[in-house]
Amino acid sequence: MLENVIVGSGIGGSLISALLKNTDHILFEQDKNLGGCASTFKRHGKYYNAGATTLVGYEKDHVLKNIFDSCDIKPNIQKSDIAIRIIQGEKTVDRVKDFEHFLEQVELLYPHPNNRVFWEKIKQIDEKFWQLQNIYFGKYKFSRYIQTSKFIKELFKVFGFEIFQSAKGFIDKNLYNIPQNYQDFIDAQLLITVQTTSKNISLLSLALGLAYPFHDVYYPNGGMGSVISQVLEDVNTHTKEQIQKVIQHQDHYEIISNKTNYKTKNVILNSSIYDSGKLFDDKKIKSYYEKFSFSDQSAFVVYLYITNKEKFLHHYQIILDKLLPNSISKSFFVSFSDQDDPKFHNNENGYSITISTHTKANYWKMLSPEQYEIQKYKLQNFIVEKFLEYFDTISKKDITKVFSATSITFHRYISRYNCGGKAIGLKNALELPSCQTPFKGLYNIGDTVFAGQGWPGVALGVDVLHKELSQNQG
Ligand SMILES: Cc1cc2nc3c(=O)[nH]c(=O)nc-3n(C[C@H](O)[C@H](O)[C@H](O)COP(=O)(O)OP(=O)(O)OC[C@H]3O[C@@H](n4cnc5c(N)ncnc54)[C@H](O)[C@@H]3O)c2cc1C
Repeated sequence: MLENVIVGSGIGGSLISALLKNTDHILFEQDKNLGGCASTFKRHGKYYNAGATTLVGYEKDHVLKNIFDSCDIKPNIQKSDIAIRIIQGEKTVDRVKDFEHFLEQVELLYPHPNNRVFWEKIKQIDEKFWQLQNIYFGKYKFSRYIQTSKFIKELFKVFGFEIFQSAKGFIDKNLYNIPQNYQDFIDAQLLITVQTTSKNISLLSLALGLAYPFHDVYYPNGGMGSVISQVLEDVNTHTKEQIQKVIQHQDHYEIISNKTNYKTKNVILNSSIYDSGKLFDDKKIKSYYEKFSFSDQSAFVVYLYITNKEKFLHHYQIILDKLLPNSISKSFFVSFSDQDDPKFHNNENGYSITISTHTKANYWKMLSPEQYEIQKYKLQNFIVEKFLEYFDTISKKDITKVFSATSITFHRYISRYNCGGKAIGLKNALELPSCQTPFKGLYNIGDTVFAGQGWPGVALGVDVLHKELSQNQG
């Protein structure tokens, strides 16, 4: 009997597998590419990053770096000196790590008497958060509630009650009479990092979301999928093997794949919390998963391949003054492959470009096949047009490939309609799924459980789960 089965090679499934590589384990990935939203795929001879393009958290004392170090992984990444160039009409702000340089630009373009107070507070909260010693969230056992309360106590001790005040209240107080374009500048960044705007979150989430580029932001050489491959180097990985059913027995789980059956003591699902229930026939387990209300948010991604001699930054965010068609965002995020990255440039001055924005997941499901195509091209064409308007050294004829992905596409390849977890808001903090379930030996990992999305958020959850599994073994 296996000790651990991991279902899915997303960031969560991969990191926990690397930590468990010395146990008797198998990681199953249904797709041929590893990494889920953080994968790199090949189409018509060119490579593209499916979703994630930036890596944050590879710095001293951060949980992600600690995981990499303890697994002896040195990711093949390079620092992006300008993390993101944000463009809003005539305004351009480079999100750089250097606080004074960043603030100077904000002062010039979005003047406000309290800019320094506001941004210093954001940076300070973020720094203090990553120094906390007891970051933890767990449920369904007395000992876990005790540990969670220890974390909450530490949060109060370090920050006081103010950390739970609403982000909107904090902005209204500090950046009073904030102009719409400054509010859009803040909200566009939050949508990328915490999946929602300042309307629905606490000051803590606001700070963690806006401070992202005060950290080192890295570009993955060879694509994000290459980092995942490095993480999985010593992991027993089965690709193109889909897990179709999981059956709970008294002291083990039976795993039924499209190829064969396995037995395991623990099963760690990297499928989203909304998609995990369908793996079970057991009514109790099914109803456990059904109680999490679906987070109806997803990504729309345009993939471009262009030939152009110009040098570009790795990342840009373009903010418009209106919502994009069929979207819930006024902005889109553009990532270029590095000019010197041989995986992408193909000896032809080529760039692989991933452009993403936010949409409702269910919107695409409701459309007829004809309407689906019409609406998909409407958004794709709009984004390409605005992209060409900004990057005026790129002409339409430089684009040699263009195609896009909706929530339907994500579901086809990685079995999830929603992308990104639910933002931790003031009202839903206690309903947040934990990596533990009420069922012995059954766990979830990834961006729909604590602590949320992206490399740093998923790594926090992995750390909690790994400590728990180690304790159980010990
Ligand atoms: C467009 C976009 C851009 C993003 N940009 C960034 C960024 O720049 N930086 C960043 O840090 N984060 C970014 N994110 C967020 C980040 O990509 C995700 O939060 C993270 O990758 C999710 O990881 P996960 O562990 O939840 O796994 P997922 O990515 O959800 O992967 C789960 C895996 O499990 C597999 N699976 C599911 N069910 C089964 C089954 N039954 N059998 C076998 N395999 C199965 C799937 O095929 C998939 O590979 C972005 C996300 C999107 C969508």
